[in-house]
Amino acid sequence: MDTRNVTSLIERKTVLPKWAGANDPWAAFRQVEVITLELTQSYKHSLGKYSRFFIELENRRFFGTQCPTCHRVYTPPRPLCPNCLTITAWQELPGTGTVQTFSVMHFPALVNDDVRDMKTPIILAYVLPDGGSTLFPHVLKAPPDSVHIGMRVRVAYAESPVQHPIHLMYFVPLEE
Ligand SMILES: [Zn+2]
Repeated sequence: MDTRNVTSLIERKTVLPKWAGANDPWAAFRQVEVITLELTQSYKHSLGKYSRFFIELENRRFFGTQCPTCHRVYTPPRPLCPNCLTITAWQELPGTGTVQTFSVMHFPALVNDDVRDMKTPIILAYVLPDGGSTLFPHVLKAPPDSVHIGMRVRVAYAESPVQHPIHLMYFVPLEE
């Protein structure tokens, strides 16, 4: 961890419910102190063997890895085939795929600003990429009523800076 900042804003007030009269048993506890805390951290995290996947997203290219022995194609990429333990090879995929299942989320997961800033409801889709063997879960930006199992989608790329590199991409409906 490189830096750590804590800022706080302290507000003191007395909260008195309308029903509280002269015999309020909680009178000595009505003064409330509210503290707003903001905690920020910055740290370095290596994307390691997965790095090329994110580098290629910046190049607007979608990559998986293929096992040279059993030929399974992993998206997200896996450096080692979990099926036969062979080291895989990078393979570019067309970036199209089919929704296998999905969730409609009415509350954003407060993991980072990329998600916090999204309008709800948020569609989390499990997409089988064309040419891939595994499901790729990610945000699908589409009208919730239009999303269905079997829907054709494609990878779209972020047009503005993101906080986490996985948000360099998302899915959108494929217009065929
Ligand atoms: Zn394999």
